[in-house]
Amino acid sequence: MGKLLIVGTVAFDAIETPFGKTDKILGGAATFIGLAASQFDVDSAIVSVVGEDFPQEYLDLLTDRNIDISALEIVKGGKTFFWKGKYQNDLNSRETLITDLNVLANFNPVVPDDFKDAEVVMLGNLHPSIQLSVINQLKKRPRRIILDTMNFWMDNTWDELQEVIKHIDVLTINDEEARQLTQEYSLVKAAQKIYGMGPKYVVIKKGEHGALLFHKEQIFFAPALPLEEVFDPTGAGDTFAGGFAGYLAASDDSSFNNMKKAVIHGSNLASFSVEKFGTERMLSLEHKEIKDRLHQFKKLTQFDIELQ
Ligand code: AMP
Repeated sequence: MGKLLIVGTVAFDAIETPFGKTDKILGGAATFIGLAASQFDVDSAIVSVVGEDFPQEYLDLLTDRNIDISALEIVKGGKTFFWKGKYQNDLNSRETLITDLNVLANFNPVVPDDFKDAEVVMLGNLHPSIQLSVINQLKKRPRRIILDTMNFWMDNTWDELQEVIKHIDVLTINDEEARQLTQEYSLVKAAQKIYGMGPKYVVIKKGEHGALLFHKEQIFFAPALPLEEVFDPTGAGDTFAGGFAGYLAASDDSSFNNMKKAVIHGSNLASFSVEKFGTERMLSLEHKEIKDRLHQFKKLTQFDIELQ
């Protein structure tokens, strides 16, 4: 069983979509990553921080799925990170209305001893200095260090983000953010520029239009499954990252071919995440549903063609 170390926000989210709105539900990058990764045969731990206002019931949801939360600090008297977002009618564009860092502003991450030799480290969306501090505490170079980030950190902590990106193997980022990071419109050119910053692999997420994996001259594309129900895209990117990282931690194979499979597993899990508000769908997900949808993925992407 592989070890997966996860860093990212554990949060309260308030979400507004054309289909409804919620007040302060369970969210955060590390939460979505952990829930997705728990579908694989991995030992995972979350390094993060919450305030005293964070309900025990939410912590139990994580431990029930065998996620080690001994490094999830609870700050006495503190308030949990809060994010509020609103989606436009097409669900592809979203506006951040509130980002309250709260306890995240003064967080010093401590990696548990048992996870200092993790095979895979998933640095979820968080302050890049915290992501770097986690890398610096590792006692062995992991097989893969994967990093996810977003425009908020590009806007506010550009230099720190550039620094941490030097130390990673895989950058997962959405198309808009890849363009912001590189000032390139073409995603092929953007990926090449990102290689120059450090990572050997780049995954560009394109929401309902799938995901691209780049490595040297090679490109792989996985579509997103066309869905009947899309309710709330929040956490789809993190669920993708959790599925990607979880699969890689569970399998002892660093080939490009295996990275392609990881992209498919990530896309498959993300397709469930968007069907209900927040983490709701991921919490009710069964193995059989995951397997059935993988079959659908295979069908969607396979074809026979005669080539001369
Ligand atoms: P995604 O939809 O995959 O991009 O991720 C949405 C999740 O990211 C939500 O659950 C938020 O709590 C979390 N989030 C939003 N803004 C930030 C931020 N600036 N840093 C870290 N996590 C964030």
